[in-house]
Amino acid sequence: MSTTTSNLTEKTACELIQIQANNEASAETITRAFLDLIKAREPKVKSFLKINEETALATAKSIDLKRAKGEKLGLLAGVPIAVKDNICIKGTATTCGSKILENFIPPYDAHVTEKLQQADAVIIGKTNLDEFAMGSSTENSAYQTTRNPWNLDCIPGGSSGGSAAAVAACEAPISLGSDTGGSIRQPASLCGIVGLKPTYGRVSRYGLVAYASSLDQIGTFSHDVADTALLLKVIAGKDERDSTCTSNDVPDYTKSLDVPVKPFTIGVAKEYFAGGLDPEVEKSVREALDVLKSKGATIKEISLPHSAYAIATYYLVATAEASSNLARYDGVHYGHRSKDHKNLIDMYCKSRGEGFGSEVKRRILLGNYSLSSGYIDAYYLKALKVRRLIRDDFDKAFAGCDVVAGPTSPTCAFKVGEKSSDPLAMYLSDIYTISCNLAGIPGISIPCGFNSKNLPIGLQLLGAPFSEEKLLRIARMYEKETNWHLKRAKVC
Ligand code: GLN
Repeated sequence: MSTTTSNLTEKTACELIQIQANNEASAETITRAFLDLIKAREPKVKSFLKINEETALATAKSIDLKRAKGEKLGLLAGVPIAVKDNICIKGTATTCGSKILENFIPPYDAHVTEKLQQADAVIIGKTNLDEFAMGSSTENSAYQTTRNPWNLDCIPGGSSGGSAAAVAACEAPISLGSDTGGSIRQPASLCGIVGLKPTYGRVSRYGLVAYASSLDQIGTFSHDVADTALLLKVIAGKDERDSTCTSNDVPDYTKSLDVPVKPFTIGVAKEYFAGGLDPEVEKSVREALDVLKSKGATIKEISLPHSAYAIATYYLVATAEASSNLARYDGVHYGHRSKDHKNLIDMYCKSRGEGFGSEVKRRILLGNYSLSSGYIDAYYLKALKVRRLIRDDFDKAFAGCDVVAGPTSPTCAFKVGEKSSDPLAMYLSDIYTISCNLAGIPGISIPCGFNSKNLPIGLQLLGAPFSEEKLLRIARMYEKETNWHLKRAKVC
């Protein structure tokens, strides 16, 4: 095997495409290499809830055949991809990490799934998540706890921990996740990979099981920014089935990627460097800012004065929407139905009681409370007003800078079990990621170092609405100056 084709599983999607174009390895060989590594590593990492071995190999073979016949191939031809298990794939179980959807087989594909198929990607499996994407550690999955490939005693972050760990463990070169309050960027940061949450409306949510519909957005995981640009190009764009999905043109993110942005200004929010930030994380993030400065960035201190209210606002808005979205799982419309019930009300209670885990129940209770007639003004409607102020803070910031930079997560990956009995401590993991969803803006986390225990650190860049192109170019400028994105976890 030549050096180009040794360690196929450590390659990026762009490299795997090139390897196939050079006839150095087929889609089938590539897919088999990933399936073999999945078999070896899954007992330890536990990223996947389902592995589609047969369909993945059949797809790979059909792509090889298309290539042999000289037919036109899609942008992700022969590239394996893992998909978070709250995104529907027709005929494949979609559990959302919940017992209540254990037997749910979607009769339709999500918009992004259709896009992946049109792009000739090889969907290799469905990945683990916190139940209904509620959590920051993947410990809230009803099925298994995914481990961080850099240290198996640690959590991979969440809620898209399975998708992040799958890429960090080289079980897939790219994956899809969903981000409602940080669920792509935080696990990307903790697993040392790139994670992008696009602008709200950039990618269709059709076929994404709803958690909090005004915050949810599908996004990407990859080893580097070039793969992020490619995958975003595939999944972004108009879809009439999601009325919040924009018909704005999709820029050619890959074409412009290597054109440096010059000159540019980075806003550094003083609120993002306050108490609670791990000094080792702060050091790496400040060094990353110096790298960007050396590439022509002007660093400007800014203020996002309402950030202090972001967590409280998020947990009111998100739980209110969740309580409404999750009402459909009643054992009749959707989901598990209890076998043992006396009457209709008893059936609803037992089906939901047996099917949902404790974090989901906590959030349904909180959401129903804040929406109830005596409290809606004081809680939910007040939260919506603060949400507007948070967006205004960003609008003001982006009037004077191109991106806002800071840490993605206040700490590196923590130990499994360390925060699982303390929901408030867990909620604070998202302190830097949540505002982005409340404001509907795009955000990316890119690897920017390791702490003294060899755990990855992420730099977060936030942009104005629909500025993904610029965001990716700036992220790429940083990436080209560093080697963090080239490191691969040993998984032992
Ligand atoms: N950790 C946050 C929560 O538990 C965000 C989750 C997400 O983005 N899906 O709600």
